[in-house]
Amino acid sequence: MKIITGIEAMASLCRGWKEKGLRIGFVPTMGGLHEGHISLMRAARAGTDAVVVSIFVNPTQFCPGEDLASYPRDIERDMPLLENEKVDVLFHPQPEAMYPAGYRTYVEVHDFQDKLCGAVRPGHFRGVCTVVLKLFNIVRPDVAYFGWKDAQQVLVIKRMAVDLNLDMEIVGLPLVRDPDGLAMSTRNAYLSPVERAAARLLSKSLAEAEAMIAAGETDVQAVVARVRNVLAAAPEIEIEYVAAVDTKNLEPLDRIAGDGLLALAARVGKTRLIDNILIHPKGEAPC
Ligand code: AMP
Repeated sequence: MKIITGIEAMASLCRGWKEKGLRIGFVPTMGGLHEGHISLMRAARAGTDAVVVSIFVNPTQFCPGEDLASYPRDIERDMPLLENEKVDVLFHPQPEAMYPAGYRTYVEVHDFQDKLCGAVRPGHFRGVCTVVLKLFNIVRPDVAYFGWKDAQQVLVIKRMAVDLNLDMEIVGLPLVRDPDGLAMSTRNAYLSPVERAAARLLSKSLAEAEAMIAAGETDVQAVVARVRNVLAAAPEIEIEYVAAVDTKNLEPLDRIAGDGLLALAARVGKTRLIDNILIHPKGEAPC
């Protein structure tokens, strides 16, 4: 596996691959790799000829007071995992190279960026879209892979790709969970044992909601109330939001019907975690 930090070196390698007719698969990450990230790499390895994984803790997507400084950074730990998945290149640019002095340009996906997590983390999706578009312009992938763990991110990036006529495919892949149901996240490392135990309620609450929907419940309030009730059992959990929205525009659903997203964000102790399920009533296929 090659490790590239220079932007021009990365771009030029990708241009060479393109000239040879190779299809490039790209997995953007912030490192602290786990099975969720690995599932994306495997899909890239299976679906394309050359696989690039980026590790870049993007400063512009962190709000003031968030965990930019303390976010886990351990490239030595991550490297063997990438080697194991036969990733061709780890792209690991420095913040000063991505955002040199004088940097002024940002990408916004209006409406989408202000809802759910965007309402609590102003500027977050602007930072995400900006860095993802910059990375796309450097790597020029044919396919980029994202996890439904960050469902709003998938929808925002897909919207950006359509609106800006990006000539590439955006693939969303299923959320990977720990055996007890907790959505895998680099930030799970922040949890104390007591918080880790409480955090199981996040996926449990969604599983109960999913069972209600499968049994025919169409009342959004009833479903959201069940999620809130389950979460209320742990004093360590402070809910930020629980919402059922339309995947087309992230607008609240009036009733459970068609493709939807049931998403939640909560603080477990000081750690902010998110989880979601895609809703496909009556066994419809995913969007
Ligand atoms: P991150 O390093 O947290 O920015 O995540 C990089 C990519 O991995 C994003 O597309 C995430 O949605 C995806 N990802 C993170 N956790 C999971 C998970 N538990 N299951 C599936 N994909 C994930």
